Amino acid sequence: MARILIVEDEARIASFVAKGLGAEGHRTTVVGDGPSGLDEALSGDHDLVILDIGLPGLDGFEVLDQLRSQGSRIPVIVLTARDSVTDTVSALDNGADDYVPKPFRFAELLARVRLRLRQASRGDGEGASDALEAGGVRLDLRTRRASVAGREIDLSAREFTLAEIFMRNAGQVLSREQLLDHAWGLDFDPGSNVVDVYVGYLRKKLGADAITTVRGMGYRFGV
Ligand code: CA
Repeated sequence: MARILIVEDEARIASFVAKGLGAEGHRTTVVGDGPSGLDEALSGDHDLVILDIGLPGLDGFEVLDQLRSQGSRIPVIVLTARDSVTDTVSALDNGADDYVPKPFRFAELLARVRLRLRQASRGDGEGASDALEAGGVRLDLRTRRASVAGREIDLSAREFTLAEIFMRNAGQVLSREQLLDHAWGLDFDPGSNVVDVYVGYLRKKLGADAITTVRGMGYRFGV
């Protein structure tokens, strides 16, 4: 059980996140503006903060900046609709530990929350390297940057998510349904060929041999 502060002005998203975390056994507090978020985050009553960027009063970047300049090291996961590399990097430079682009699936957020809580409890949240590496491909899970053979490549948020799923399960065959469920969510039409299209994009960027088609079963990353 962790005490999690949710700073989010959209009631629908705040309640979705609070319900989900509550069902996982966490205790949540929700506030809807920047100044209250900062006060709560500094109160010492919370183990982790989920912080929206677009907030009334102070935006998420300002909240983070003040939080860190006042010496707080509480883990912060930023929710951002602006999932460009620039915004992500600036959130991380401002002291966020991680970020989740909106719209997100709850499972994605929960995975980030678990990772941050685990690191915080081990005390290695600072400077921990969260990277996946296989077959010359490297994904930095903190900055969401990717490289192939040391050369940085540009992946969209969706391509990155898909690459992450493949690399976490390197050597295993993943069905289209599994990939669709993990990277797009269940609300996506299962008859869609979006997985095949994105595997094509990834092959162009990671190398044609990075992902093997296993006839009648799905796809496999690596050997
Ligand atoms: Ca907002």
